[in-house]
Order: sequence, then C-alpha cells, then structure tokens
Amino acid sequence: ALTIGIVGLPNVGKSTMFNALTKNNVLAANYPFATIEPNVGVVPLPDPRLTTLAEIFSSEKILPATVSFVDIAGIVRGASEGEGLGNKFLANIREADAICQVVRAFVDDDVTHVDGKVSPQSDMETINTELILADLQTLESAIPRIEKEVKGKKTDKAVLDTALAARTVLEAGETLFAAIAGGNTDIDTTYTRQLGLLTTKPFVYVFNVDEDQLTDEAFQASMQELVTPADAIFLNAKLESEVAELDDEDASELLESVGITERGLDQLAHKGFHTLGLQTYLTAGPKESRAWTIGKGWTAPQAAGVIHTDFQKGFIKAEVISFEDLVATGSVAEARAKGKARMEGKDYVMQDGDVVEFRFNV
Ligand code: GDP
Repeated sequence: ALTIGIVGLPNVGKSTMFNALTKNNVLAANYPFATIEPNVGVVPLPDPRLTTLAEIFSSEKILPATVSFVDIAGIVRGASEGEGLGNKFLANIREADAICQVVRAFVDDDVTHVDGKVSPQSDMETINTELILADLQTLESAIPRIEKEVKGKKTDKAVLDTALAARTVLEAGETLFAAIAGGNTDIDTTYTRQLGLLTTKPFVYVFNVDEDQLTDEAFQASMQELVTPADAIFLNAKLESEVAELDDEDASELLESVGITERGLDQLAHKGFHTLGLQTYLTAGPKESRAWTIGKGWTAPQAAGVIHTDFQKGFIKAEVISFEDLVATGSVAEARAKGKARMEGKDYVMQDGDVVEFRFNV
C-alpha cells in the first residue's frame, strides 16, 4: 500500500496528527492489521463512489483504498552530523513512497518551540537541510565508487552524470524533488532512487495552523508559494483529533463551524494520491464494493495484479463500465444492454473510476 512518512521538528504536532489519523480507523474490522507497528497508521481514502456502488450491488461491505502513515521521529537541527540520521530513521524514510513534512504555524505559549519562536519557513529549512545533508553524505561515498565503476565500464556513465547533477542541486540547498518537479533539472529519477537519495521522494507539506488560519487565504497562499512545486495542506491537529472522535454528522458540523468542508486528514490522503500520480479503480459485488490503488497509465493486467498476481498472469480480458455509466444505467445488465459495458484487452489503459470485472485463467 501507499506509505507516507511523517517528519518534522519536535513539538510541531506530529503525534497529535498521527493519533487523529489512527483513531479514525474504521477499517480495523475489515483488515487484519495485527502485525502493524505502533508508529504505523492505516487510513482509508474516503470515496463516496463506494457507497453508491454498495447500493447498486447490495454489497455487504465497503473497502476503500488505504494510505499508510509512518510517524518518523528523530529529526532535529544537526541530526545528519556525527552518527547521522540514525538507522531506524533512514530505514523508515527509505520505505516511504512520499514524505509528509509537518510544519508548525500555530502559536501557543504553552507549547515550547525548539528554536524559541514559531517560524514555518525556518523550520522547513532546518528539516530540509538535514535531509539534503544526508543525501550529500550518501553521494560523497557513492561518487568515487561510481567513478571507478564507470572507468571499468561496469556502470553506465549516465549514473555518474546523475550523481554529479544531483550534488549540484543539493549543494545549492534544494531538494531533488523540488528541482525535478520544478523543472530546474533533467535529472533521471530512476538513478537517484537507485542511489537511495531521500530528497528524490515526493514531498507534501502539512501546516499545523491556528483555527483562524484555516480560512486565511492570504496566509495559505504565502505558505503554498514557499513550498511550490510541492502541495501544501492546512489543518489544525488538535481539531482533527477531536473530529476523529465524532460520528459523520457531528464531524461535519464541527468542520463547518470553523469554515472548512473536508477534514484536513482526508485532504492529506487525497493530495498524497495526487502527488504520487495514483488513482483507483473499483470492483463491486454482493460481498463487497472495493477501491484498488494503481498508478496513472497502468494497463488492465497490471491493475488485475493488484488484486492477485494470478489475475495478472492469467489475464484474458476485463469487462469495464465507467462509474458514471453504471450510475446512469443503474445496473450491470442495463449497462450491457445499452452498450456501456466494454470488453477490454491487455493493452487497455485503466481510467480512474473504472468499475471492472476481470476474466482470467487459473
Ligand atoms: P510532536 O513532537 O511533533 O509529535 O508534537 P505533539 O503532537 O506531541 O504536540 C506537541 C504539543 O503541541 C502538545 O502539547 C499538543 O497538544 C500541542 N499541539 C499539537 N497540535 C496543536 C495545535 O494545532 N494547536 C495547539 N495550540 N497546540 C497543539
């Protein structure tokens, strides 16, 4: 499943946010999470389409796509020096598909700030500097090795060129993600990933804000500008943890009272999907209506492989109805009668919201 690593300075609200994420675990009944570590939370990606499908098919269960969040503590100023960022930290962050950086914008004299003042910009610089320094350390030992390998014709020269270009970006104080997504460099991410460079991963920024900042468009625009090309999300971690305790109706009321329509954590799951270029397709039947996570541009057999590798291996074809067509016709039989059910082969490129039934050999 999609995994997002949460990083940030101490006392910015990471744990509060993480607890809110995991409290809302409506999935516990449907997924076996027994083996999950205490710093991992699995969060459903809200998808109203599933409710509609469950009505059409009289499904017993709804299983949304999920996003895993890993709380990665341990980053402070100077963390990359000496012993470095620590094995646990590095292992956690290497496993993550994306990095969610929590930044404190809320003001509260009762909550100590490690630098003594609330400054989102300088906090982001502190965290990003540590990640950038970690990547520079990685390159410092990798580059001499790659140079030898290239001389010995064991490694493609493109790898060395990438490593050197990456070093230039990092030395200028920029993350590789920002440089690549911002179009400032033509660095090939397959190589930077191979090199294990942390800042290649997509970044999403969460600003933990005061309640009045939740609707402060000028403030939000200025923060968004600071983090572009990454996405910024604005939430109040304390409020999110209160919302997580409420049923849907009370939650909506509370959100409305502070002027927002979607929980910050739902925005985060959606933005995480967007940042990673992911989408979902749907399956439905009397047992369950379910959303499955795939990449943009994936073919039908690749999508089938997410359900089971046998589905991919034995793929014959897929019967596809778009969600909109299914809703408009009201049933699979009616969609077939109206020519809205398509038989697609192995080259079919999946579209978000395809309702699919795979045919396969076992
Ligand atoms: P972490 O060290 O980043 O995990 O931070 P915590 O989640 O432990 O939060 C540190 C302190 O800040 C706790 O006392 C929280 O109650 C408080 N806190 C977290 N989020 C907010 C917020 O949105 N507003 C205010 N005023 N306090 C918060």
